[in-house]
Amino acid sequence: MGVKSPEREIMNHTENDKIRSAVSRLDFRTQAFIDGKFVDVACGKSFVTENPATGKPLAEIAACDKEDIDRAVEAARSAFEKGSWSKMSPDDRKKVLLKFADLLETHTDELALLDCLEAGKPIQDCSTFDIPETVKCIRWHAEAIDKLYDHVSTTSSDNLGLILREPIGVVGAVIPWNFPALMAAWKIGPALAAGNSVLLKPSELTSLSALRMGELAGEAGVPQGVFNVLPGLGETAGQAIGLHMDIDMVAFTGSTEVGRLCLSYAAKSNLKRIILECGGKSPQVVMADAPEIDRIAVNVLNSAFWNMGENCSCGSRLIIHESLKDPLLDRLIELCKEWPVGDPLNPETRVGSMIGKAHMEKVLGYIEAGNSEGAQLVLGGRRVLEETGGYFIEPTIFDKVSNDMKIAREEIFGPVLSVITFTSEEQAISIANDTNYGLAASVYTQDVNAVHRISRALKAGTVSVNCFSEGDMTTPFGGFKESGFFGRDKSIWAHEQYTQLKTVWMQLD
Ligand code: NAD
Repeated sequence: MGVKSPEREIMNHTENDKIRSAVSRLDFRTQAFIDGKFVDVACGKSFVTENPATGKPLAEIAACDKEDIDRAVEAARSAFEKGSWSKMSPDDRKKVLLKFADLLETHTDELALLDCLEAGKPIQDCSTFDIPETVKCIRWHAEAIDKLYDHVSTTSSDNLGLILREPIGVVGAVIPWNFPALMAAWKIGPALAAGNSVLLKPSELTSLSALRMGELAGEAGVPQGVFNVLPGLGETAGQAIGLHMDIDMVAFTGSTEVGRLCLSYAAKSNLKRIILECGGKSPQVVMADAPEIDRIAVNVLNSAFWNMGENCSCGSRLIIHESLKDPLLDRLIELCKEWPVGDPLNPETRVGSMIGKAHMEKVLGYIEAGNSEGAQLVLGGRRVLEETGGYFIEPTIFDKVSNDMKIAREEIFGPVLSVITFTSEEQAISIANDTNYGLAASVYTQDVNAVHRISRALKAGTVSVNCFSEGDMTTPFGGFKESGFFGRDKSIWAHEQYTQLKTVWMQLD
């Protein structure tokens, strides 16, 4: 981290003051956003969200129940059938969504603060990654709208076969807390662009940015009823969306466990389309010839500790050739000094708090399991900054992990990296693929043939080579095996899954 210069100190004070004063000016939206306005929920119930960096309550939010979901579906269906959005010309729909993206961009600081406060994420990440990516996502899907063509089939000349893509209807989007605004954008961007009406249910731990996004969409001109935001608990609001007979599709991001429930809701109700983006246990494979230890170390730490490891594509298993293990591990430990744990509102913080007490305890439980199963703790392993009331865990590295240990098998969703060694390429691939998950993977090697061999052999939806990445807006993101079901976020492939195919067959005279 080095010694800070006095100028830098002064700048940070000014920056910190600015941030704190912006926090004091925040105005939370806490009602449900249904049919274009903020409304009280029918049951009058609410829940309290907490700032996980202080353990103190942050806001009391309306808890939508079945009746509120029914009301929102009614508004969404009516808007869809009227065609105020679904039949709007692609060019006009594009203009509205571009305006929405512009408004989100104008409110970057505010949205970044909301996600920082509710999720304990470092403000620097929220304002330089989460919200700019949110804006980019809405803009990308908006710009695609009038560039997508339907098809004419190759029939005989006395027939005409049109193959059309139509919006599905009413889409429920149920999302997690780890990237609150961005996960919302990954769903609503393509769903709205395709002409659907949407009900967004944010995680009960992070509702604030989603509610503000609903309001800004309205301001941009998204018609009433087209985009509804329904804060609430999973077992009530989430389940009511899953089981609803008049919702045509549920796009879910969250745990594999709740993903399974979504499939069962569809089976028990109207066979709505389900797409799932679920958990991961991603391998980072470092071959013996991997280039530039320093660069690898930076990437490995980003993959493991970015967003406190509360990241679906978190590279929690470092699978490394035994000849490189010691030098890389030394470098990782050294570079961890550049990952200060602290107040998420401080722009220098890189590791904020865990999302909540229960989750922190779960992560600490995994650290305990690593110790008791015989892995060697070489860094971290403790709760820190307890005096703040927040739920902080320091970056943690275990050496001498075997792939059958609990810490190597289960998704920890915290800053815990397991180091596993191998001696042959075959063994590396076998360890990497020996998991129920298949979301992401990385491989580090200089050998171009090995790049192709290994990236094809790895069973993961995204394989990054000599880096840690989820690609960009042009590439689909989603999982193999229990990391997902049918779904891809981002890119034109995401757009397509919010549409359905219709054939129009004509007999010509
Ligand atoms: P979660 O499954 O607990 O909750 C996700 C959403 O489902 C929330 O909105 C929650 O309220 C709702 N929910 C909970 N119980 C429900 C029920 N019984 N019926 C209907 N809905 C219900 O997940 P989480 O803890 O919010 O998020 C962490 C998980 O998300 C991790 O497993 C992570 O890997 C995954 N994730 C995946 C991706 C991806 O792109 N694959 C991205 C981000 C997060």
